[in-house]
Amino acid sequence: MDNNPITTSIRKVIFENYNDVDLKFNNDQVFEILKQNEKIDPSLTINDMEVYFKELCDAEILRNIGQNFNTQWFKLFEPIEKIQCSSCKKESYIISSENRICQNSSCGSTL
Ligand SMILES: [Zn+2]
Repeated sequence: MDNNPITTSIRKVIFENYNDVDLKFNNDQVFEILKQNEKIDPSLTINDMEVYFKELCDAEILRNIGQNFNTQWFKLFEPIEKIQCSSCKKESYIISSENRICQNSSCGSTL
């Protein structure tokens, strides 16, 4: 497990697996990949993740396109870009309309 914020881990999973604006994917799929990669606390449940997906929807990175019981379907508004910070060397996963600021909260350099 790493100490990235969960939303950063979600962005990375989407970048690596679903980075296509025509693709539909859901919270269960992303959650399964996060668990397999041991990127999240194993005690977390899919319901605990809802707040993080909502945060990404509020930031207009994800568009909620439908819900079926606990499964929420999403599409990207635009592809996510991976940018390595020249200062801390960590990778940020952002879309073009976001501020180009390193997502490592202890860094915050301009990308
Ligand atoms: Zn940085």
